[in-house]
Amino acid sequence: MFTPNVISKFTTTPTPFYYYDLDVLKKTLQKVKDESAKYNFIVHYALKANANNEVLNMIREFGIGADCVSGNEVKKAVECKFDSKHIVFAGVGKSDIEINYALDQNIFCFNCESKEELEIINELATAKGKTAHVALRINPNVNANTHKYITTGLEENKFGINLWELEDVVKLLKGLSNIKLIGLHFHIGSQITDMSSFKSLCMKVNEIQNWFDSHKVQIENINVGGGLGVDYHDPDNNMIPDFETYFKLFNDFLELRPKQKVHFELGRALVAQCGTLVSKVLYIKKGVNTNFAILDAGMTELMRPALYQAYHKIENLSKSSNSTSHFKYDVVGPICESSDCFGKAVELPETLRGDLVALRTAGAYGEVMANGYNLRDKVKALYSE
Ligand SMILES: *Cc1c(COP(=O)(O)O)cnc(C)c1O
Repeated sequence: MFTPNVISKFTTTPTPFYYYDLDVLKKTLQKVKDESAKYNFIVHYALKANANNEVLNMIREFGIGADCVSGNEVKKAVECKFDSKHIVFAGVGKSDIEINYALDQNIFCFNCESKEELEIINELATAKGKTAHVALRINPNVNANTHKYITTGLEENKFGINLWELEDVVKLLKGLSNIKLIGLHFHIGSQITDMSSFKSLCMKVNEIQNWFDSHKVQIENINVGGGLGVDYHDPDNNMIPDFETYFKLFNDFLELRPKQKVHFELGRALVAQCGTLVSKVLYIKKGVNTNFAILDAGMTELMRPALYQAYHKIENLSKSSNSTSHFKYDVVGPICESSDCFGKAVELPETLRGDLVALRTAGAYGEVMANGYNLRDKVKALYSE
């Protein structure tokens, strides 16, 4: 990934910046296409993971759809020429303006999260003389065994419609003239590495399908969301997630009805490994029990460690990794918050002011979460050739 050529380009680029290896992205997308095509599965990309134009264009070129969680994401997908027939709009709090915009674009589907939302979409669609296609986002109460801040499929989470509400929802739908139910939607969380969570999801979906059958409601589409995790600890040896096992699992365990289509909404798994945050060491500061390596990038450029104690592999690109003397550093950013820390007691070759540092696996939920706290400059991006 970091050939001498690439590193020499880094040394002449002002830091910090995101580096995107488009070759890694391309290989990942090719694998997703190949593995999902085995079962005619339909893949959407969750724009919220990374909405960089370069990245989006390549994803669209692979014929992948767009999964959006805000009106502006729908707009971005439209601007990047995703076919509106392949755009879905999810989210627990869609505003009227956002719903109206998506109705105007004739998107494929609204993933609806409550009875209240169904009523509003019906009202807004009626005013436009349109029929909105919706999928019910159902909270399957399946534990994703991931960090509590990125678990979404439990009853205590704010997302989705709970199982005990389904009876009411089906009754309600009968009276909503401008809503057409086209699917069921599930998304249990993110950075899921324990495949048994997805198996549990399949079992739950099967049960829920039986319930809909018994209520004589036909479902054309099953959307099982995203959430497939990536290897943050060993990116070089696991650049591409195990899409083969992942898609096979859904094929093995989902009990589909004739002609039913299965949809996926992957974010992180498609883009995490192609991105690196590159930063420079400003100071090595001696503390009482530790040395601090103070970088020119902080939580304003990469928020995941501060937000949910996420791990990113840290490398010193200016020193050979087989150099003999290693030291421990707390690698921190310049922002005035104690949580602005990328890693504690990180073992690195002797690190000096001016060294280039890579924060790996930063392509997902990195650049999109960058913000201007402390009036920081907007972080830039650099692409492989
Ligand atoms: C965030 C999100 C995704 C993508 O999650 P990843 O873990 O990045 O794959 C998919 N669907 C919905 C509804 C989401 O909110």
